[in-house]
Amino acid sequence: MRSKGFLVLTCILAGGMTVLLAQQPPGGAAPAAATVDPVKVLVDRLDLEKYKATIKGLTQFGDRRQGTDRNRAAVDWIEAQLKSYGCANIERIKYEYVPAAGRGTGTGDAAAAGRGEGRGAGEGRGAAAAGGQRGGQRGRTGQGGSTIFGTRAPTSVNNDPNAQKDEKLRALNSQPTTPGPREEVYCTKVGSTRPDEMYIVGGHMDGHGWGEAANDDGSGTALVMELARIFSMPDVKTERSIRFALWNNEETGLNGARAYVDQREALQGKETPPGSGKYPEPKWLGMIQHDMMMFDHGMPGPDGKVSPEQRREADVNIEFQSTAKMAEGAQKLAWFFKAANEKYATDYPAAVGPHMTNTDSGPFMDIIPAISLRENERGSQIGGGWDPHWHQVTDVFSTFSDADFRLGLNAAQTTLSAIAQLTNATVK
Ligand SMILES: [Zn+2]
Repeated sequence: MRSKGFLVLTCILAGGMTVLLAQQPPGGAAPAAATVDPVKVLVDRLDLEKYKATIKGLTQFGDRRQGTDRNRAAVDWIEAQLKSYGCANIERIKYEYVPAAGRGTGTGDAAAAGRGEGRGAGEGRGAAAAGGQRGGQRGRTGQGGSTIFGTRAPTSVNNDPNAQKDEKLRALNSQPTTPGPREEVYCTKVGSTRPDEMYIVGGHMDGHGWGEAANDDGSGTALVMELARIFSMPDVKTERSIRFALWNNEETGLNGARAYVDQREALQGKETPPGSGKYPEPKWLGMIQHDMMMFDHGMPGPDGKVSPEQRREADVNIEFQSTAKMAEGAQKLAWFFKAANEKYATDYPAAVGPHMTNTDSGPFMDIIPAISLRENERGSQIGGGWDPHWHQVTDVFSTFSDADFRLGLNAAQTTLSAIAQLTNATVK
């Protein structure tokens, strides 16, 4: 073992020497002792135009509402992209989605009656059920245990086809959802020395509202896909595994993420077949969800309107849920992500909050440390109407500026750098 350790050390030193030589200026002045930081190398592979192109690709399927052909076509497209990146072990979770009786509004979709996505996350946790514009005594109480301060604007899910003035997009979104079988796709970067342990990096690929679901959640889905692309590059090695999951049915109550937990929790860490070195479900070390990554234009003004410009103080909001069984570990993970942001993000800082809610990390949060990244805090800010495009016809690619897309890219830099460190990523 000792000689092996010596060999490894020698290789590292040799690698370091190469770098030193390469950086030697022509004049021969002594170079600063430089070693390549593989995390920085990987972060530098993220690219604003590529990120935008992936979001644009997702918008070709309209709002990608669950239970429609456009949603199924989007799952196929995502799978094809993951394959083209070389991401390994592409698989699908299959489950049935049947909306709860009496909740629909005639469209057959439980979410249509809801006031927001992922109602299920706050249920049973003593969180206030109502966010948004409710006034009166409880007016400050937001979802997930949050408090809503300041001026607020209404929130809702658009369910009116005619609100979409773009006729082509209206036609694309016209097929109604029907209950039945559902699928969602994931792929895995297999760890070199700890293939039996993994982090899960997620985003939800379904949307609704008769737009293009560009921000909710094309922005999070594209982030996960970009990370899958970079970690799958042939010169990248990670000691631990990373799973890239694109959940379906988030908007109806986190049904896709719940199906994953139901089907795979018990399989964790089992070598199958024994002796093969293969772990179809590595032990879960953490779950990091990404949902609505781009728009942080601040609080609505007294007139209820939100600024058309990204605010200069925009930040990435990292949330954990303080009432979760694994809150202690989730909190540590959140602070680790903030530190990664400070070191590696280029334009926007990150803030940590304790009220994660209504997101696909919810079904994981009592089992493993689970956090979510967003453009705003879900309970106090999204719930207060800070994103006027949320579930509306205006959630289309053309709504967003480069300053918006860049916030999503900074969230990608944050997660990529944190996960690269947690899995001991190296670049050959
Ligand atoms: Zn969402």
